Amino acid sequence: MAATRRPGRNHLFIPGPTNIPDRVLRAMHVPSEDHRSPSFPELVKPLFQDVKMVFGSTNGTVILFPSSGTGIWESALSNTLCRGDTVLTARYGQFSHLWVDMAQRLGLEVIVQDEEWGTGADPQKIEEALRADKDHKIKAVMVVHNETATGVTSDIGAVRKAMDAAGHPALLFVDGISSIGSLPFKMDEWKVDCAIAGSQKGFMLPAGLGLICISPKALKVAEGGAGRNDRLGHVYFAWKDQLTTNATGYFPYTPALPLLYGLREALEIVKEEGLENIYHRHHVLGEATRQAVAAWGLKPCAKEPKWNSDTVTAILVPEGVDAVKVINHAYARYNLSLGSGLSKVAGKVFRIGHIGDLNELSLLGAIAGAEMALIDCGVKVTPGSGVAAASSYLRENPLHKA
Ligand code: PLP
Repeated sequence: MAATRRPGRNHLFIPGPTNIPDRVLRAMHVPSEDHRSPSFPELVKPLFQDVKMVFGSTNGTVILFPSSGTGIWESALSNTLCRGDTVLTARYGQFSHLWVDMAQRLGLEVIVQDEEWGTGADPQKIEEALRADKDHKIKAVMVVHNETATGVTSDIGAVRKAMDAAGHPALLFVDGISSIGSLPFKMDEWKVDCAIAGSQKGFMLPAGLGLICISPKALKVAEGGAGRNDRLGHVYFAWKDQLTTNATGYFPYTPALPLLYGLREALEIVKEEGLENIYHRHHVLGEATRQAVAAWGLKPCAKEPKWNSDTVTAILVPEGVDAVKVINHAYARYNLSLGSGLSKVAGKVFRIGHIGDLNELSLLGAIAGAEMALIDCGVKVTPGSGVAAASSYLRENPLHKA
């Protein structure tokens, strides 16, 4: 009789939702509670301060929405911009594409710089576009820091330099959904005006909390209404309603209580490991994955090493191989969840997410599983080659600096 039970754990190696540490799972196991009780602010108030640290900010203001990351894109745009405003953005993957689509559907004029998938934002082109905008029609520059679909990280510091060099006052909005809490993110230093994160990636929580950190400049724009009465509509995502109630340690509507307890615990974990250690660990695990990919004789979707993401690697399968088959086989046979290729790269890539709570041996499990699935699907890979390359690298490179 065929067994219905799959023994052991599912190996979750999609680039979010990521693995949830047992401590966080336990912390979320709470009974319902009165979110207007006198003691509730004791839980809530410190969260804002600690989340700010993860964004690399001391000046910013954090809001926690019961939402996925997509809602936070909308909150950034709708609280600061007016119908018909112009925004500038670069598109190089499914998520940058979806943000463009949202901006257009909200009624913004979107100047899109299309970049080859596998590359990222081009600071020089951004600077040129801003210099050409003599009347300062462009109100915001939108950049996806880590394009999760292709495994590409853009240089936000360089984008900020480009904006400063052009002397342009546009706001800078950064999608850090698959970077914040895992890759170095310097909200204040890069003068990011809205930084956007989701709970299910570096914050090691289930999906359902959208996090935004807002600069004083963006807050002022939101408060002033830019002197216009054709603001984009927002009610549920209004910053003002949140900020008024957050100041007293409450929320304007029912909060996702277990997620707040989970966030408290996740922030403790971040503090214990330390952000610099977390960034270093992600770099080591990302590099180990890339060593495995090279040993398999395959190529990442990222066109050059400067684009490599330390949270996700998208791997191109050879011509004639369907990446969907590799992913489905890895799941069915080895209980390994790999990320699929989205949109333009569907069927051409599979993705290994190396983001969140993982270590050398968990990553090696995923590399072994991907390797077996590739071989089973007819890809000419030397058995053990990826595991050997990644494990040699990991032996030489500890997860944390001494
Ligand atoms: N932006 C990036 C870079 C993402 O990776 C994702 C989701 O994976 C999103 C936006 C959309 O976020 P959500 O699915 O939480 O709405």
